[in-house]
Amino acid sequence: MTDSSGPIAAPSASGNPLLEAWTTPFETPPFSQIKPEHFMPAFEQAFADHAAEIAAIVNDPAEPDFANTVTALERSGKLLNRVAAVFYDLVSAHSSPELLKIDEQVSLRMARHWNPIMMNAVLFGRVAALHDKRASLKLTAEEKRLLERTYTRFHRAGAGLDAAAKARMAEINEQLAQLGTSFSHHLLGDEQEWFMELGEGDTDGLPASFLAAAKAAAEERGMPGKAVITLSRSFVEPFLKMSGRRDLREKVYRAFIARGDNGNANDNNAVIGEILKLREESARLLGYPTFAAYRLEDSMAKTPEAVRGLLERVWKPARARALADRDDLQALVTEEGGNFKLAPWDWRYYAEKLRQRRADFDDSAIKPYLALDNMIAAAFDTATRLFGVSFAERKDVPVWHPDVRVWEVKDADGSHRGLFYGDYFARPSKRSGAWMTSLRDQQKLDGNVAPLIINVCNFAKGAEGEPSLLSPDDARTLFHEFGHGLHGMLSNVTYPSLSGTSVFTDFVELPSQLYEHWQEQPQVLRQFARHYQTGEPLPDDLLQRFLKARKFNQGFATVEFVSSALLDLEFHTQPAASIGAVRDFERKELEKIGMPEEIALRHRPTQFGHIFSGDHYASGYYSYMWSEVMDADAFGAFEEAGDIFAPAVAKRLRDDIYSSGGSRDPEEAYIAFRGRAPEPDALLRRRGLLDTPEAA
Ligand SMILES: [Zn+2]
Repeated sequence: MTDSSGPIAAPSASGNPLLEAWTTPFETPPFSQIKPEHFMPAFEQAFADHAAEIAAIVNDPAEPDFANTVTALERSGKLLNRVAAVFYDLVSAHSSPELLKIDEQVSLRMARHWNPIMMNAVLFGRVAALHDKRASLKLTAEEKRLLERTYTRFHRAGAGLDAAAKARMAEINEQLAQLGTSFSHHLLGDEQEWFMELGEGDTDGLPASFLAAAKAAAEERGMPGKAVITLSRSFVEPFLKMSGRRDLREKVYRAFIARGDNGNANDNNAVIGEILKLREESARLLGYPTFAAYRLEDSMAKTPEAVRGLLERVWKPARARALADRDDLQALVTEEGGNFKLAPWDWRYYAEKLRQRRADFDDSAIKPYLALDNMIAAAFDTATRLFGVSFAERKDVPVWHPDVRVWEVKDADGSHRGLFYGDYFARPSKRSGAWMTSLRDQQKLDGNVAPLIINVCNFAKGAEGEPSLLSPDDARTLFHEFGHGLHGMLSNVTYPSLSGTSVFTDFVELPSQLYEHWQEQPQVLRQFARHYQTGEPLPDDLLQRFLKARKFNQGFATVEFVSSALLDLEFHTQPAASIGAVRDFERKELEKIGMPEEIALRHRPTQFGHIFSGDHYASGYYSYMWSEVMDADAFGAFEEAGDIFAPAVAKRLRDDIYSSGGSRDPEEAYIAFRGRAPEPDALLRRRGLLDTPEAA
């Protein structure tokens, strides 16, 4: 067993599984015993324990030193971490009206609990005293980094403010926590309410695998024998691409982009206005001109100007490419006798037609080769070849839903490294999107703690007796989240707050996006992309056409992303009082950058959970592209070595990137891996954007 931090002390009389030692394999959460009513009492106990631990540090009469202050902080809050990890996993991946109600209470209590800690002047004084004399403390590199990060966290939370400013900051944080929760509940509400039934005559262009998924979705909603489209992205995007019914495409498209903007009880417009005002006020209290300036100071990019610089460099060639593609799509519409102007709900459909014509390829030809189990095997095998880790399925580990699968991860020497939970299928109780999270993070402060890492996706289930067949995008998502998963599983740090994905937001997508590169390697596809019925490998000719098609429509993909990232930046750099109605602001900003009217934002404001459900990606949505600059550049190291599994490069990748968590400065870690700073040309080349006229 690996968790030698000891069982969490709790009176067994509580009868609350969240407060008792877990006797399950690997001391994992006993999901079948955990009921919604256990959470509030467990949180209350956890808050009390944590507050007492903090008080002990604050009241310690001894002079502050690294052990009695910084390390003591790292040791505190174990129970809180444990309860919160289980709770947030369920709220996101398997919620219920009961859990969502508790979530509102929890987010309020969480803010009330953390505020006095993060603003405690005595505690900050101890940390600041150590920070002042850090040069003379004889710390290891990881300890130095931890002290730096701890100091910065308190400083940025407002621990150095006067009493009045602190009180206001506390109010703001509470309100923001509630507003973020309302935002995501509204979005989930609109997503759950809407569905469109597909009648007999509504299936033009839709392949059998799509219809099977639509039937499974109807079944989940208690409508057996019918077929429905929901607002899950993995339904909407393929539908817009394949449905020959222009009227239905328009209906689905309009519902999708209207989420959170319907003027009903789930409307997010007012919530956004409130969030922006409060974020700006908190940034000003801390002495920053805007929220973006505050947010980006603590990132690899450092300033809004650096972010805008990158986005604009990519925007120009991407827009030029998209406009050229638009003209080609319009010509195709006309050629087919369509007497209409290309609309946003037509783009994917005609792009797919054009792609089939040019690359002679469509997604449905490759889907039978991308069965979920084969792609999981491919993701695992890639990790084995790069890092020596192996995966063995376990049936004895409790899970939160029968669809969830668990694997034990072992290192090359056979030692236990952690558990990997895969929760792959869409269901009504799961929020949309795909993500990685953890039930326990790696650390070795008091003995080795092995991580429990989760990937959640929203793939459509296969029909009765058939496997789930992934689209190329789904397969890429699987590798993406697995890359995050490896960042958690390979973590090898001492201190919990530096573990795994605890890195800057604009660095955190490097391990995930880099991992996507292996999914599209011929060497990997030849081995794992096998027809689910015949077992035949992907024919070489189809493989070549697939790879060629990958670069197609990149103008569109880049435009929908960069426009969202620019809008995020504008929301957080312009004065909140000047923003006014969110819809008008959105329109005005899109006009300013010359957004092609046939392309929608990847996330319109009222559904932009990345930046409004919490502040994690607020003025940080650009991070994906910042990371993409690095991932394209980083994969080049393998290409230059002439082997996509080159052992020496893979070793540096593990040591410098995947296992070092937040224990190193990201720029320094990248340079250690690559031998130099990242260069953006690899990204433009990979997206096929270097050869557009305006890019020259
Ligand atoms: Zn990601």
